[in-house]
Amino acid sequence: MATPIRLLLAAALLSTVLASPQTVHARWKPQQQAKGAVNAGHLERASRLHNTRYVKLRFPANAWGTRQLVDLVQQCAKEVRRRHRSAHKLLVGDLSRRTGGPLPPHAGHQNGREADVGFYMRSGRALGGLWRVGGHDLDARRTLTFLACAIDSHAISQIFLDRALQAPLVREARRVGWKQARIDKTFSWPRGRNVRVGVVQHRGGHDNHLHLRLHCAPHEHHCRERPVARRHALRAKRKPRRHRRRRRP
Ligand SMILES: [Zn+2]
Repeated sequence: MATPIRLLLAAALLSTVLASPQTVHARWKPQQQAKGAVNAGHLERASRLHNTRYVKLRFPANAWGTRQLVDLVQQCAKEVRRRHRSAHKLLVGDLSRRTGGPLPPHAGHQNGREADVGFYMRSGRALGGLWRVGGHDLDARRTLTFLACAIDSHAISQIFLDRALQAPLVREARRVGWKQARIDKTFSWPRGRNVRVGVVQHRGGHDNHLHLRLHCAPHEHHCRERPVARRHALRAKRKPRRHRRRRRP
């Protein structure tokens, strides 16, 4: 007879099995593929990022990516909440379209390996959009926790962030005891704006979000690690003109 205790035991066993690493592995779809480059590519069998207790989507239609990217954003937002109980939700902008391809106004975001995420704010409230912020508005502690979680996953190839906003993060990293070698490897600040060193690098236009870019996963055989030259990049087709001249007979 199914006593309540037996039922409880069965439920506990089931939840253990569901949470086991083997199950996570089985759920992982190796056929999920980023194809081509971030600025000339597409996405197959995409995963979708959802609104959760930790994540707030700005553009749900463009919240598709590789499973690796979707999991990373979700898990690192969760990690921030675990470490800092009162942290607000992570505001997430564009990832990719369901099948990838050009996503204006971005040059990239085409093959599910890039995501725009907002900052944790000192006000304790997420902004309504990916708006420009100053260093003093930034909650450096929580934003650094998110960054460290993402970088420690070893899936990150690059993060773009204006150097003015890297400065408070570096100060925070020092404060919490990061070694100088780790800081040098992580941030391009205080080096110049054109120096391409560090995981987190300066790029113009990145004072309102963190731009995450992932490495190609080992099973993504048709994924290209680096962007293609601008002249080979895929762009959105222009809309046909409204008043077309009639063809001559
Ligand atoms: Zn971006």
